[in-house]
Amino acid sequence: MTINLADDPRISDEQYLTLKSKALESRNLSYSPYSKFRVGCTILTETDEYIVGANIENASYGAAICAERTAIVKAATSGFMKFKALAVSTDLETCASPCGICRQVIREFSNDKQLPVYMFNKDGSKVIKMTIDELLPLSFGPEDLGMVTN
Ligand SMILES: [Zn+2]
Repeated sequence: MTINLADDPRISDEQYLTLKSKALESRNLSYSPYSKFRVGCTILTETDEYIVGANIENASYGAAICAERTAIVKAATSGFMKFKALAVSTDLETCASPCGICRQVIREFSNDKQLPVYMFNKDGSKVIKMTIDELLPLSFGPEDLGMVTN
C-alpha cells in the first residue's frame, strides 16, 4: 500500500500540498501587533473547500482569537460543518500545536474524533500530524449531550 503525503487516504497529494501552502500563506492574514506571533490555519472541508484563518489580537488582550477558531467560525458561518483536515502554521522552527480551547472547538466539528490536524513549522519543512482524539483524549462532545451527529 502506498502512503500518500497526507498519510490519510481521504486526502489526495494535491489537496495536502494545497492545504500546506494555504496554511503557511494564511499567516499573512494574522493581526498580531502585540505578540508578533503569527498563526495561520486552513481547513479542508468535506466538500473540498479551503477555509483560511489567522489569529486576530486585540488591545484588550483577552479578546484575541486564535487562527484555528477564526477559521472554524468562518467555515461554520459559511455552511461548512464537516471537515476533512485542519492545518496550522507559525513562524517557529518547530511545529506548534493548537491551544486547549481550540482543541475543544476543533473536536466539536470532528464527529469521529479522527480529524487529522497538521502542524507545520515556519517553512513547512517539518510537520506533525495528530488526530484530534490524540490531541484531546477523552474529550467531551456533542454525543455526551445526547446529540446524534454524523
Ligand atoms: Zn487556540
